[in-house]
Amino acid sequence: MPLRCAVCQKVLRDPVSITCGHRFCRQCITRYWEKPAPSGDYDCPQCRKRSRTLPVLHHLSEPNDARGSENSKTTCRHVLSQ
Ligand SMILES: [Zn+2]
Ligand SMILES: [Zn+2]
Repeated sequence: MPLRCAVCQKVLRDPVSITCGHRFCRQCITRYWEKPAPSGDYDCPQCRKRSRTLPVLHHLSEPNDARGSENSKTTCRHVLSQ
C-alpha cells in the first residue's frame, strides 16, 4: 500500500523523510516550511515534532543510488591504494 503524504493527502511524490521518520513529498514539506510557525520553529505536519532549525530532508533510496554508492566505494579504494 503506497504511503500518503500528510500535507496533500496524495500518494508520495519524490518522497523524503525527516528526522522524526515521517515522509512527505519533497515539494509539500518544502512549501510547508517556507513560512515557519510564529514561534520560529519548524514542525512536522504529522506528529508536530518541533525543530529549532530547518530539518534535513533525507532522500529515500532509489535504484540509482545503489550504483552511485558502488562507484564511490571504488573511488575510495582507489584513493586508499595510492
Ligand atoms: Zn504531498
Ligand atoms: Zn513526524
